[in-house]
Amino acid sequence: MRARDLIRYCRDLGWTEPPELGRPAAVPEVPPTAPVAPLPSEGGSLPEGVQGAAAYDSLEGLAAFVDGCTRCRLAEGRRRLVFGEGDPHAPVMFIGEGPGAEEDRTGRPFVGPAGKLLDAMIFALGFERGEVFIANVVKCRPPGNRDPQVDEVAACAPFLDRQIQLVRPRVIVALGRPAARRLTGSTKPMRAMRGSWTSYLGIPLLVTFHPAYLLRSPAEKRSAWDDVKAIRLKLDTVADVS
Ligand code: URA
Repeated sequence: MRARDLIRYCRDLGWTEPPELGRPAAVPEVPPTAPVAPLPSEGGSLPEGVQGAAAYDSLEGLAAFVDGCTRCRLAEGRRRLVFGEGDPHAPVMFIGEGPGAEEDRTGRPFVGPAGKLLDAMIFALGFERGEVFIANVVKCRPPGNRDPQVDEVAACAPFLDRQIQLVRPRVIVALGRPAARRLTGSTKPMRAMRGSWTSYLGIPLLVTFHPAYLLRSPAEKRSAWDDVKAIRLKLDTVADVS
């Protein structure tokens, strides 16, 4: 999507303040990364050749291992596993709930209607889609787009954790309730969690509404816009606060 189209799209969404155009102000140096730790629950149970942390020192290595996963029932109904995509050193990581129909068909995250709105949020932050990282709480489509169940989220948890450790973003954005619950451990309603900062694996985490919810509830776009501005501000200051 071209910048002009995205600006129009933001306006269509009711976001009347112009997004920051072009590159954001110089982003501070990445703080020293935590040592890359092994997958918490996988040691010893991996097939030969992929055992231990060394096999997961890159997103490519992790993606190759995760591909073909049958750790939960979601594997049975999937067409494509959706690992996630983006800059391996992205400053921002967006985490959604799980693939929908279009994502299951293409193997890419957030390519349906909600994805267009996510693109607009990314653009409003001053980035292109390829400059952030986008992943989900579960990597396979829940049937009928239902929420992922607790055991399915748990089965995928080590993979998501490892992605976060490898990308080591400056800010994590949890999109919607399943991501918020998974990353904060809280079961509070979305309205109570949205817009407040916590942290996950030592990285600042903001909970905001899922883009699909915003498409259904346009009245919430104002708060989503406030969240976009809060993320931008955090990105500009995070080196001082981390
Ligand atoms: N919704 C999500 O949570 N993730 C996707 O990848 C697509 C839609």
